[in-house]
Amino acid sequence: MNKDIATPKRTKEILEKHGFKFKKSLGQNFLIDPNILANIVQAAGVTESTGVIEVGPGIGALTEHSARQAKNVLAFEIDQRLLPILKETMGPYPHVKVVNEDVLKADLHAQIQENFEAEQDLAVIANLPYYVTTPILMKLLEEKLPVRVMVVMMQLEVAERIAAKPGSKAYGSLSIAAQYYAEAETVFTVPRTVFMPPPNVDSAILRLTRREKPPVEVVDETFFFELVRASFVQRRKTLLNNLSKFFEEKLSKQEVTERLQEIGIDGKRRAETLTIKEFAALTSAFYRYTG
Ligand code: SAM
Repeated sequence: MNKDIATPKRTKEILEKHGFKFKKSLGQNFLIDPNILANIVQAAGVTESTGVIEVGPGIGALTEHSARQAKNVLAFEIDQRLLPILKETMGPYPHVKVVNEDVLKADLHAQIQENFEAEQDLAVIANLPYYVTTPILMKLLEEKLPVRVMVVMMQLEVAERIAAKPGSKAYGSLSIAAQYYAEAETVFTVPRTVFMPPPNVDSAILRLTRREKPPVEVVDETFFFELVRASFVQRRKTLLNNLSKFFEEKLSKQEVTERLQEIGIDGKRRAETLTIKEFAALTSAFYRYTG
């Protein structure tokens, strides 16, 4: 087996050799603990037929661990300065392809079609740049990519919000958006000391397992997500107050109360206590007032 990229010593050597300076604005915190990297790849259940998609390979620390287990790896890296480094570090892994592109702008369906076989088992494995974790995750989920699982490192607080259950402080529109598409669980937490440079926050590995179909049927997905966001606009306020504000041009407070009563939801409750199923019921009850 090749020497690990992710030991502190080798990482330093690679960075010094190429005169690489971290860009904080690109969320560049590289992992320097091979055990954690191995655990991340293991959490994704990668086999020799799996195709891995990575966002932000950096100098290839995690890419290498995926490449050792997977059939092939496709990695999107925005920072052009990392390309010559990756060319060198990925030398022993010809089945790794690096694309110099902002993942938020990439045509992922086209890239998947071009780089993987039809029906190939696919996993996203990434240590995400903290400044764009949520937009990247939501893009990956909303585009309904044919990906079985995503195992992603992110800020602990964001992972907790995504995996949160109703009734908890962390539960909000992000939890519902993610859990509509996938089953979410925090696999393990990671101290800041395993990064170079160390970030200001602790991290966690989140596993998102794509659902075959959403846990609820909704009349209109766009309206469902709009209503969820509106319900949480002011977390401390009641559902009735938030919804009345949202429908202020179309419905009186009394009418909102009546619609809620019809589906057995007490308007005095706060959005954070509602299950996805109850949000789906809200969507049906208020759908006729859209547009
Ligand atoms: N995977 C490496 C590791 O674990 O050591 C690096 C992870 S580092 C937290 C995030 C990486 O994502 C950096 O290499 C950064 O340049 C890259 N990046 C930041 N924004 C990106 C974007 N929008 N699209 C693709 N890559 C991005």
